[in-house]
Amino acid sequence: MSATAKNSPTATSLEAAPALPAPAVVEAPSADSASGRPVHRYAPEAGVKMVDLLDGDTRRQINCLDHGFVALLDVMPRLVPAGHTADQAIVQAARVSYGAGTKKINEDRGLIRYLLRHRHTTPFEMVEFKFHVAMPIFIARQWIRHRTANVNEYSGRYSVMPDRFYRPTVEQVRKQSKSNRQGGGETFDLAADVNEKATAEAFVSFLEESEKLYEKYINLTEKGVSRELARIGLPVSLYTEWYWKIDLHNLLRFLSLRMDAHAQEEIQVFARAMFDLIRPMVPVTVEAFGDYEHGAVHLSKLEIEAMRSLVKGGSGELASDNKREQAEWQAKRAQLGL
Ligand SMILES: Cc1cc2nc3c(=O)[nH]c(=O)nc-3n(C[C@H](O)[C@H](O)[C@H](O)COP(=O)(O)OP(=O)(O)OC[C@H]3O[C@@H](n4cnc5c(N)ncnc54)[C@H](O)[C@@H]3O)c2cc1C
Repeated sequence: MSATAKNSPTATSLEAAPALPAPAVVEAPSADSASGRPVHRYAPEAGVKMVDLLDGDTRRQINCLDHGFVALLDVMPRLVPAGHTADQAIVQAARVSYGAGTKKINEDRGLIRYLLRHRHTTPFEMVEFKFHVAMPIFIARQWIRHRTANVNEYSGRYSVMPDRFYRPTVEQVRKQSKSNRQGGGETFDLAADVNEKATAEAFVSFLEESEKLYEKYINLTEKGVSRELARIGLPVSLYTEWYWKIDLHNLLRFLSLRMDAHAQEEIQVFARAMFDLIRPMVPVTVEAFGDYEHGAVHLSKLEIEAMRSLVKGGSGELASDNKREQAEWQAKRAQLGL
């Protein structure tokens, strides 16, 4: 018999394979055998009602921009004891480490807030979310940089790209920011300045023109050009779609970066939609994230020294000759009302 034939999984070879041993009957211990300490189990007492966090829904969707959306498809844990949320899985994971028994909900809240404040990350990785997202390709390029998610994207090699493009309205067109080379600043003054109005309108019609390439794309694919090549003539305002699965710890990092005012406005829209979708799933964590991360101001050593000088009646000057650092300190001072 040839090596190939020997290894091929034919019906005969499977039938001839030795039977697998019967699965062992495993009983969940109620106490740790070495220490005798009670084992903390996520499974509730018999008779406690389990509820579906998504209430039987297969998707919960928030529409974003003109044709985009974020849809929450699944959450782990999805079944939780009535009166609880997925925050419970964070508490459970942390208590495995700390070995404490069942605690009251207000103590759970304190624990979650402590964990987030002190950057104990792994308990937050016990919660996972699966999303379906449709966004323009230029946003997908920023999004994909977050490497800790699992992604499956629509294939423009396999299928024809759908005819959907992001086109902001004339009112939404932003000017290049003078202070931030990466960012867009204010919108054009349509009411008071005819030149500004004309520029914003010219930009929107430029996008409109680029969308006309779609017709050519379809035409050339119909004439036999491969989809994988034909698509390269389409603009990055075209929408793509993907499934995106991520744990809560890394999602919070994504949200912290992409809900921030320094992130591009369009990706902020998606990040805020995601935040709204997960809020009811992990309300305590979301609250703690707002208090200690998203709504917080982090200070460097130099900034603390400048603040000390302010409190003592000094100038509050930052001991740095870096312009950007100075500007950041001024922004933080304004945020702190100093
Ligand atoms: C406002 C803004 C502007 C930006 N501008 C630019 C830009 O001009 N050019 C540019 O290229 N990018 C830019 N980025 C992208 C940025 O540099 C990061 O790539 C992106 O935010 C993802 O961050 P992350 O690597 O922390 O996230 P993730 O990839 O989700 O990783 C999370 C953490 O996991 C760890 N990790 C993940 N993968 C690895 C790995 N393979 N090896 C080691 N550790 C790993 C790291 O500690 C990382 O911090 C910008 C991002 C923002 C928010």
